[in-house]
Amino acid sequence: MKTKPRPKTQNPHAIRYTAEKADVANLRKDYDVDESIATLERTQHFRGHKPWQGMMNDVIPLSPALTPALHATVSSACQLLGLKWTLLLFTSASAQINAYACLDRFAKQPTLSLCLTSRAIEELSENELLFLVGHELGHVLFEHDRLNLLCQPSEGVDSLTILPFLGEWLFLRWRQKAEISADRVGWLLTEDFEAGAGAIIKAATGLGSNNLTLNSHAIDSFLNEAIPMASRHILGCQNAPMLSVRLQALQCLNRTAPRPIRTSGKQASWLGRTDKVVAEGLSCLSRRPATAALEACMHLIADAGVEIIQHDHEVEIEEIKKVMNILHDHYTDQPDQLICLNSAKRALRIRASIRTLNRIASSSEKKEALSRLSDIAIADGPLGEADSKTIFTLAKALRIPVNETNAIIVGCVQNKSRSIDPGLVSLAHKIEAQSRTTKF
Ligand SMILES: [Zn+2]
Repeated sequence: MKTKPRPKTQNPHAIRYTAEKADVANLRKDYDVDESIATLERTQHFRGHKPWQGMMNDVIPLSPALTPALHATVSSACQLLGLKWTLLLFTSASAQINAYACLDRFAKQPTLSLCLTSRAIEELSENELLFLVGHELGHVLFEHDRLNLLCQPSEGVDSLTILPFLGEWLFLRWRQKAEISADRVGWLLTEDFEAGAGAIIKAATGLGSNNLTLNSHAIDSFLNEAIPMASRHILGCQNAPMLSVRLQALQCLNRTAPRPIRTSGKQASWLGRTDKVVAEGLSCLSRRPATAALEACMHLIADAGVEIIQHDHEVEIEEIKKVMNILHDHYTDQPDQLICLNSAKRALRIRASIRTLNRIASSSEKKEALSRLSDIAIADGPLGEADSKTIFTLAKALRIPVNETNAIIVGCVQNKSRSIDPGLVSLAHKIEAQSRTTKF
């Protein structure tokens, strides 16, 4: 009897998005995430809790006898990727097209729990479903499920992760890149751009085959006309740009990958162009100042902010945190990349920013920048002599009159002293203590 030739296994690590892998390495190196993850993982295992259990209402296990075709699809996907995991398949009755996966790495035989929503199973074509399964396997293979344990489990906390704030910003940027790496594994299983794009578009729009035409011409027009126009004109289209980056990344990968696909080596050399397209797409997603004047304000705050915090012999964390927070809250997602550590270069940059601001910025924009620099100067205590000299010199260069500079500094001091009212804090404590004892 002739047996069907077994398909060659593919090495998904060879097509992982390089910048995503680099972000994970940075999180490991700078934030020691391995230790936190190991503890959180151990705790979850002890509780028998799967990370996606909070996200899905009620999951139903699907046995191979009940859903043989589905089990065959997932098993062959695992086989093609060389994964020897025990499989537990679940569904969740949901109108959304979605999936979640995690791996129990503590079990004797690593056990994959994969949950596909009922709509995903029913609505997606065979190849689209295979792409979605591959996407989820990709997340697990690259250990994204472990990194996601760093998301903040407590409610009512401002931060989204348990990381300090620069680490959290890095983590949030990494999460976008993680989708690209996962999509590539989905593509590796199907080598079918239209199926991948179909799964992504159906999941994002909630529309099904009855209303979607998913050929390359339709996807092109969606990518090149609909998304850019909507992103420019319609509020509430925040997810559309990321959708567009994912589709473009997939399209580029599909065009540049040699056929038959070979991923047996280390990093595939033909990926360079695709990685560049992804990097360009993702850089368009990051926040940047809307005008040239605001951009000059941002650079002035970054460079003059460093000058100000250097006045003290000891650089306090509170001060650098203030600089970073101001830059992040008002201008950019990557404030750390604006910091210049060469003092001569910094002085030149400050002069250039001042020239630009005097040429194009309004008086209120310049005063706003000076106010933010004053906030930095008083972040660690009273305004010192060197700080006040810098603030008044900058004000003069920005052509802000002395009386207005004075009013700006007074405003900053007032805001700082008003930010915490000891009288109100004590009153809140008294009310809180009373509410625990009062019984009606
Ligand atoms: Zn994903």
